[in-house]
Amino acid sequence: MFATLAQKLNPAAWLVPTTCLACGRKAKQSVCTNCHQGLVQEQRTQAVIVGQGGVKVWAWGTYRGALERALHQLKYSGAYGWGRVMGEMMAQAWLKQGQDQTPWQVVAVPLSQERWQTRGYNQAEEISYTFARWTGLRHHPEWLTRTRATQAQFSLGAEERAANLKGAFAASIAVKGKCILLVDDIYTTGTTVAEAVAALKAAGAVRVMAVVVARPVFRQKA
Ligand SMILES: [Zn+2]
Repeated sequence: MFATLAQKLNPAAWLVPTTCLACGRKAKQSVCTNCHQGLVQEQRTQAVIVGQGGVKVWAWGTYRGALERALHQLKYSGAYGWGRVMGEMMAQAWLKQGQDQTPWQVVAVPLSQERWQTRGYNQAEEISYTFARWTGLRHHPEWLTRTRATQAQFSLGAEERAANLKGAFAASIAVKGKCILLVDDIYTTGTTVAEAVAALKAAGAVRVMAVVVARPVFRQKA
């Protein structure tokens, strides 16, 4: 696996004795057996729902417990290693369910330039990279970009959320005629995904399905 720039710049990534990403104890893999069990508890049996704007959403798990804590670390504590763990778990589940023959191309929900600079990595892309690698699907993170910075969605009401993201994404003409799997970390109200799907469709994508790590127990009204 190729290291991201953030990984290359982080000397901790090169230290060999592995500690569990979740509990910090010594482990043979990125996540110890105990903590891995905690994550698996949140795996969904029914992965697919129809989300905002009629978008099909495939969610690996439920946003709670150990999975919620892991996603929080991935997003806010610089623990990008979770992206690899989650991408692999998702790929295993995806392959296990027996896929159609759709020639899916994998794209991640992008971050704004500003947020990328503060965080140092895009958590969705850390996930999509590994997901694509394990499923053998093509990865094209460059096909979708943010055209401008937006406010954090959680700070806004439903109408403001939609307005905040209107036209915030731009898709490459390379998506024309393609079937896209759009990867993100968490699916809550679906406004971000709906807006990204709109950009992909406007550029000519024929099918778009969202693939996320987790969504809350109850689908919230947008
Ligand atoms: Zn652990």
